Amino acid sequence: MNVYRDFDNYLKEYPTQDGYFGPYGGNYLEDPELVKAFREYAEGYNTIAQSAQFIAELRRIRKEFQGRPTPLYHCQRLSNLFGKTQIYLKREDLNHTGAHKLNHCMGEGLLAKYMGKKKLIAETGAGQHGVALATAAAYFGLECDIYMGEVDIAKQAPNVARMKLLGARVIPVSAGLKTLKEAVDAAFQAYSREYKTAIYCIGTAAGPHPFPLMVRDFQQVIGDESRSQFLEMTGHLPDKVIACVGGGSNSIGTFVPFLADPVELYGVEPLGRGPAIGDNAASISFGKVGVMHGFNSYMLASEDGSPAPVYSNASGLDYPAAGPEHALLHDMNRVHYVAVDDEEAIEALFLLSRIEGIIPAIESSHALAYALKVAREGRPNSAIVTLSGRGDKDLDYVIENYGSGDEFLAKRGIVL
Ligand SMILES: *Cc1c(COP(=O)(O)O)cnc(C)c1O
Repeated sequence: MNVYRDFDNYLKEYPTQDGYFGPYGGNYLEDPELVKAFREYAEGYNTIAQSAQFIAELRRIRKEFQGRPTPLYHCQRLSNLFGKTQIYLKREDLNHTGAHKLNHCMGEGLLAKYMGKKKLIAETGAGQHGVALATAAAYFGLECDIYMGEVDIAKQAPNVARMKLLGARVIPVSAGLKTLKEAVDAAFQAYSREYKTAIYCIGTAAGPHPFPLMVRDFQQVIGDESRSQFLEMTGHLPDKVIACVGGGSNSIGTFVPFLADPVELYGVEPLGRGPAIGDNAASISFGKVGVMHGFNSYMLASEDGSPAPVYSNASGLDYPAAGPEHALLHDMNRVHYVAVDDEEAIEALFLLSRIEGIIPAIESSHALAYALKVAREGRPNSAIVTLSGRGDKDLDYVIENYGSGDEFLAKRGIVL
């Protein structure tokens, strides 16, 4: 009867020692130097990050520097608008730097310090991961090299300025299309050269082992906090827990503490302009199983297996694969993966801004949009929505492309 009981031992079983979540995950790197580097990385993580000293120091950093715990907030006015769902927001937008990414960047920076490394290396696309990592590097007094495509550097001037202000080196990548894919390749090459003195810091719960495990563990603070906050506020568990899925870090950290509970979990992927290939980045909804960037998972790939073009109006969600643990949880039917399009997300952004005084990131607005769908139909219920980040970074784009909130909402039949 209780299907959730099977999940009591889940964390002991997954991932395996080699980083497999069922058939997914693993480490498919071929460069022998990188294989050595990742072996050392996994060993460092498995020993150091489990030590009482590391855990205590990370806990102190979360409290004093990041401002955790972040609040869980009951949106009463928004809940009343559609009526069926009481919506609670986990406010990762109030985490220092304005999003959840700092949760794993601070963990990665602390691990680098304990492993005696001098430098953090990463790539960035829109710049959000670069800014969070540059923040961690500044905090720990480490060097920071961020590889970024020249096209992205031109588009993301404010984030480039932030990274530089924080003391990071932003290294332009001029190969190929000069965007994220080429930046990933350049950052991996740098890590292969420099792994004795540097560590590579991934920006999501994807990539080769141990990244999906490590990022999940560092992000689990979201679900741990929201579970106990919700229990304290209401005396019971929520019916639903909802989070957006790009590579899958804020969502996996949100879901894991609820796996053994009788709670429905929803991962919201970006449907973009629609289901056609190239119009979305909903890797689980529309992708196939394959190997990309050194791990096995669901991905949007072209005929030859290379990453397919992806699109979403949320730049943090337009990644052509989902982390391997999401692939497993999908196959186990434990998490439901649904998709929300550009306009539904923008509607949620305008509504939360107007009704609750919170401007969410477009990424996070995808998760909220799904909660609002549920709130219009069905039985009365309650939901925690992880609000992964704040929307300041999206303001110019939203106003330019979607105009004022009132007009946009009126066109969709909502008059406030
Ligand atoms: C990067 C980002 C995401 C997507 O990343 P995940 O790894 O899937 O969590 C979501 N929301 C915000 C605000 C982001 O910056």
